[in-house]
Amino acid sequence: MPLNLILMGPPGAGKGTQAHRLAQRLHVPAISTGDMLRDEGKQGSALGRDAKHYMDRGALVPDALIISIIEARLQREDCSHGFILDGFPRTVVQAEALDRALHRLGWSLHRVGSLTVPTDEVVRRLSGRRTCRDCSTPYHVALDPPAKRDTCDICGGTLQQRADDHESVITARLEVYARDTAPLLDFYRRRGLLAEIDGLGKHDDVLASLLAHLTVVNGDRPAAAS
Ligand code: AMP
Repeated sequence: MPLNLILMGPPGAGKGTQAHRLAQRLHVPAISTGDMLRDEGKQGSALGRDAKHYMDRGALVPDALIISIIEARLQREDCSHGFILDGFPRTVVQAEALDRALHRLGWSLHRVGSLTVPTDEVVRRLSGRRTCRDCSTPYHVALDPPAKRDTCDICGGTLQQRADDHESVITARLEVYARDTAPLLDFYRRRGLLAEIDGLGKHDDVLASLLAHLTVVNGDRPAAAS
């Protein structure tokens, strides 16, 4: 049975970092809708241009658009043993569409992890975040700076600040999270799927909590997680 997981939490909670680390441990893909939209933007596609209008002001792109992207992505071969969704679903409409898509594929959702981080900490993380323009490796100006200013340690690419990590847009993103996405916590809690995990602390400790809470299915630990 595929290990189908969702990672939730406000912007800046560390979903992207932890989704990648979980993906490596569990041998399933981490699927970030934000990354998929940014890739479309880099390629200059019509979809990328449309999405950018919403993204740059911290708004959500329309449900129908993001649902069709995710439906197509889940059908790819690399999802056959499971996946970790990062940044989807973000509304109840999206969560219901995901249920239907999984049902069509004969799959179900195993666990939903929600990383909890206080608001002042997410603002600090987001406003200092920089990302390599070429390979997307994340840095933080104070907490995790590159060896050479504005230059990626991995590929030498230039670091840039995401347009939506500017402070005025951060506020809008947090409001959207509280209004549209936080209600999903109850949606999944009621179904017994939600695990709330402290997102503060060292990356390795957060990963260990996630692994402990998300990979137990009906009391058993799937082979992929052992
Ligand atoms: P993220 O990288 O997850 O912080 O997403 C960046 C931006 O992409 C969000 O602020 C939205 O504008 C857009 N986005 C990503 N995922 C979704 C989604 N599931 N629904 C709507 N918009 C999304």
